[in-house]
Amino acid sequence: MKVGKMIVLTAPSGGGKTTIKKHLLAEYDELGFSISVTTRKIRPTETDGKDYYFKSAEEFRTLIDNDAFLEWEEVYIDQFYGTLKSEVDRLWAIGKHIVFDVDVHGAKRIKKMYGDKCLSIFIRPPSVQVIIERLKGRKTETAESLAKRVKRVEKEMSFEHEFDKVLINDLLSVAFKEAENLVESFLEIYSSSEEE
Ligand code: ADP
Ligand code: 5GP
Repeated sequence: MKVGKMIVLTAPSGGGKTTIKKHLLAEYDELGFSISVTTRKIRPTETDGKDYYFKSAEEFRTLIDNDAFLEWEEVYIDQFYGTLKSEVDRLWAIGKHIVFDVDVHGAKRIKKMYGDKCLSIFIRPPSVQVIIERLKGRKTETAESLAKRVKRVEKEMSFEHEFDKVLINDLLSVAFKEAENLVESFLEIYSSSEEE
């Protein structure tokens, strides 16, 4: 099996991980997404087995007992998220470099495990207020789940210095370009525009 590289995207909730991840996956065939397991409820915009593997708390516990996780975290009270070891094997077996979308603690753990093979990117929106507005605009959260997320934002923002790169997510087109630059340089991809 050819062992690839890893790109870990992390940010507070509403920071733009999903948006930037989807852009990168659409742009680069070389990348594959590590589908995490979660016990939270599926959103109308999501597909089981594509965005996440949605499981019950009991199923999640069994996966922990079976040592199936590379890392896992109770990101919110009673809401568990975890990266499966089998996702790494699956994606490397098909020759992909792996993109992870995980919280700051998961990102630190994966970076620690894989060192130079792994690029950790902290996505920083312009302010906490902007994150709150974007989360409200996403219309995926109830008042309760929005409050849970907002409560964690400031703490998560304080982690930015612990990652390899900080990507400012203000104007989306600029953030996309910057994400492309980071990926191309890490994976040593030379785009056709540079060859012209
Ligand atoms: P995360 O996955 O980190 O929780 P999302 O990618 O879902 O964050 O982004 C939260 C919301 O903000 C989404 O509705 C997304 O469309 C929007 N969004 C993300 N980046 C920007 C941006 N640069 N400008 C405006 N809206 C954005
Ligand atoms: P959401 O519920 O908004 O999809 O995700 C909530 C938080 O959980 C986000 O910060 C997201 O990155 C994080 N997350 C998603 N999957 C994993 C995972 O496998 N491990 C860890 N540690 N965090 C995850």
